[in-house]
Amino acid sequence: MRALVKQKAEPGLWLSDEPKPEIGPKDVLIRVRRTGVCGTDLHIYNWDDWASKTVPVPMIVGHEYAGEVVETGAAVDTVKVGQRVSGEGHVIGMHSRAARAGRFHLDPETQGVGVNIPGAFAEYVRIPAFNVVALPDDIDDEIGAVLDPLGNAVHTALSFDMVGEDVLITGAGPIGIMSAAVARHVGARHIVITDINPTRLKLAAEVTSVVPVNTAEEDLHDVMAKLGMREGFDVGLEMSGIPAALDQMLDHMVVGGRIAILGIPSKPAPLDLNKIIFRQFTVKGIYGREMFETWHKMLAMLQSGLDIRKVITHRLPAAEFETAFQVMRAGECGKVVLEW
Ligand code: NAD
Ligand code: ZN
Repeated sequence: MRALVKQKAEPGLWLSDEPKPEIGPKDVLIRVRRTGVCGTDLHIYNWDDWASKTVPVPMIVGHEYAGEVVETGAAVDTVKVGQRVSGEGHVIGMHSRAARAGRFHLDPETQGVGVNIPGAFAEYVRIPAFNVVALPDDIDDEIGAVLDPLGNAVHTALSFDMVGEDVLITGAGPIGIMSAAVARHVGARHIVITDINPTRLKLAAEVTSVVPVNTAEEDLHDVMAKLGMREGFDVGLEMSGIPAALDQMLDHMVVGGRIAILGIPSKPAPLDLNKIIFRQFTVKGIYGREMFETWHKMLAMLQSGLDIRKVITHRLPAAEFETAFQVMRAGECGKVVLEW
């Protein structure tokens, strides 16, 4: 089968011919149709510090996908051949206290599809039947391929009650924009999204009704004044991984504000804890999404009017993966989807 592989411990990815995965009794084999390219894949492509420490080579990469079940293991009775599916990219163990209590997303033995175990940038991917999420008929493969990052956005955005609240989102990458669409869907009042990339801010405003703010040019206090906000944002979603953006968020929240952090800084960065203590913020770290409550909620929201289609700006055949990584590196895109 064709697959996109990290073959060598150096920058780059290679499209190569790999053996079709063999499945165990509790696994399913999926014929992949569409895949989303994630920032994580770009880290692996670039072979940065995180990637070289985390990813064993060779490794088939990719973890955002939709396709069709073509084979099921002998012990699988929950999934049928022919079913259109996506899947949770975190494969867990069942040994930890958290997992055994049903808090699957907190399992410390988690392994990442396309990071620690063979991934979905391929014609076929094998995953445990436990991880399979069936796609309703009205969710097509293209949207199915971006449910993984949408799940990050939904899990982060639903961390705190947003009904009637003023929300600050730092970072208008695909996940920041999707979280803005979720905030709008669930009933937030003002949604301000910041970035320093005009292309991304323009896209955010096309996807949903937000106030886009280029913080390289505009002061957030001025924006708040224009919106008639006196005290600050009630809820903050950090979606950039840039420490300066988090610091700016801390300076524009109400006393008692609630902050969820998804963005991953590339290296340890100083944080003024006094800002959190004296302003009595609640801060929550987010990794992945909840198995499988986030999946349920995002599918239900997509079926009740949440529209994130415009976040997908590029659709390319898998063979043109170099172009995909190029536009992502330049930040000149929303979500990039590859066809297999
Ligand atoms: P992305 O890199 O496409 O988006 C980040 C955005 O932040 C970019 O548009 C960038 O221009 C913007 N930015 C840069 N400096 C800024 C500043 N000073 N203020 C505001 N914005 C600024 O990433 P993405 O795919 O949308 O993912 C968002 C973040 O979440 C990334 O850091 C990613 O690594 C992380 N992530 C975390 C998880 C998790 O489970 N915790 C999962 C997926 C992604
Ligand atoms: Zn991803």
